[in-house]
Amino acid sequence: MKITVAGAGHGGLVAAALLAKAGHEVTVYEKKQKNELGHDWEDRFTFSLLEEITGKKIPDTAWRYRGDCSFVSPSRTSNVVINYNDSNRQKIMWRRYLITALLDFAEESGVKFEFETEITAPAVNDGKVTGIITSAGEIQSDLVIDSAGVFSPLRKNLPESFGIEKMPERGDLFYAKRAYFNKTDEPGPDIPFEVCLCHNREQGLSWCCVNEDSVDILIGRIDPFPEGKFEACAADFRLLYPCTGDKILHGGQSGVIPVRRPLAIMVAPGYAAVGDSAFMTTPMNGMGIDLSLNAGRLLALTIIKNGSADIETLWKYNRQFHIEYGGITAKNEGLKNSLLEMPGEGVDFLFDNGVIQSSDLAGAGTKTSIGSLLGKFVRGMRNPAYFFAIINGLIKGAKLKKTLENAPAEYNTDEILKWQKSIENTLVKVNRKD
Ligand SMILES: Cc1cc2nc3c(=O)[nH]c(=O)nc-3n(C[C@H](O)[C@H](O)[C@H](O)COP(=O)(O)OP(=O)(O)OC[C@H]3O[C@@H](n4cnc5c(N)ncnc54)[C@H](O)[C@@H]3O)c2cc1C
Repeated sequence: MKITVAGAGHGGLVAAALLAKAGHEVTVYEKKQKNELGHDWEDRFTFSLLEEITGKKIPDTAWRYRGDCSFVSPSRTSNVVINYNDSNRQKIMWRRYLITALLDFAEESGVKFEFETEITAPAVNDGKVTGIITSAGEIQSDLVIDSAGVFSPLRKNLPESFGIEKMPERGDLFYAKRAYFNKTDEPGPDIPFEVCLCHNREQGLSWCCVNEDSVDILIGRIDPFPEGKFEACAADFRLLYPCTGDKILHGGQSGVIPVRRPLAIMVAPGYAAVGDSAFMTTPMNGMGIDLSLNAGRLLALTIIKNGSADIETLWKYNRQFHIEYGGITAKNEGLKNSLLEMPGEGVDFLFDNGVIQSSDLAGAGTKTSIGSLLGKFVRGMRNPAYFFAIINGLIKGAKLKKTLENAPAEYNTDEILKWQKSIENTLVKVNRKD
């Protein structure tokens, strides 16, 4: 089969490598130059998954530990500290190392690359995606794997009849900017990593992480923010932590993360999406690398096992993704959106009264359940409106999980569209605006 991978995203590279190894003719089209790929900062994901997929050991020089973390309430009156131990301490890796490992794996597996080639749209004929339209002309293939990230030009330009959501809604995206500043000789904080929820009473968060050699500052909001906001937040952190210098050592770029449930429908005849192009992240913390790697592997193995990339096979991938990962991450959206709907004083209430605790924050809400919240019933009932808003988010999230995990077993467009529509009733929408 001739397979096109659109964009050198993480999941696309994994699928490309595994499919090339299985004998398919695979080419990745990427708009950037090879040496521009990968953010200039460190991120967290499951290292053993990368080792398992590439078959190569990660050297100890490629990563480091992140320190203990303090989540701070909007008014800074309370905080929740997470003291990690050796078994759960966060490990972070330079993104350039990660992407290079995946590029090498793909090249060694026989994948071809066309860098500096911008994709503008899918080529569609007779209800099937038959290739991609690029700056270098139209390229035809039997299957297009969409790995072009959150604003994929393929997803946006698919025919309506496929039923694939084209654009995220407000609240579905997290606009972030991040830079590593030099570190001065001033002393650092006792707890090196501070995360401020609803920072400055705005919908989103900011963090300041004091490393041995630098200070990593990130701000993220659900609405795009003006240029000066990042500098203003960095100046606030500099007052709190005078060890923060003003020279940027790494990063300084912006990025957009999908923070929502994955696409319900992520395949069509001749087309399958993986990673951010299908909104595959954990909504509360925006982690998408593991999901992207897992989706790329699942897609490739499904095609290899079935010996075909027809729509029935692609639907098997779509359905299995929801059973293994989509349902559980989608559940997290209800909690995230109920927190976004809450004004800063509501989040303060949850912190000040111990309704939010380290177990909730360490697991990015994945360990928060109705049962665990009911254990805090007496404290929560000091403000029933906020307490029940969170419970409602959890109930709807649990329903959403169940719905996604119960996707139709066979590819039948009427049934699939009906199933997708039923998801609407289980969503917590973000209506509040700062
Ligand atoms: C500040 C920040 C911090 C993050 N921290 C973490 C973290 O700690 N852990 C974690 O798991 N995740 C984190 N994420 C999220 C993570 O980056 C993504 O979820 C993950 O990279 C999966 O995305 P992807 O590989 O599908 O797409 P991307 O990484 O977006 O890759 C898409 C590729 O497609 C290319 N492309 C786009 N458009 C075109 C086009 N028109 N033509 C050709 N090529 C195109 C792009 O150049 C890019 O190479 C973070 C994101 C940001 C912005």
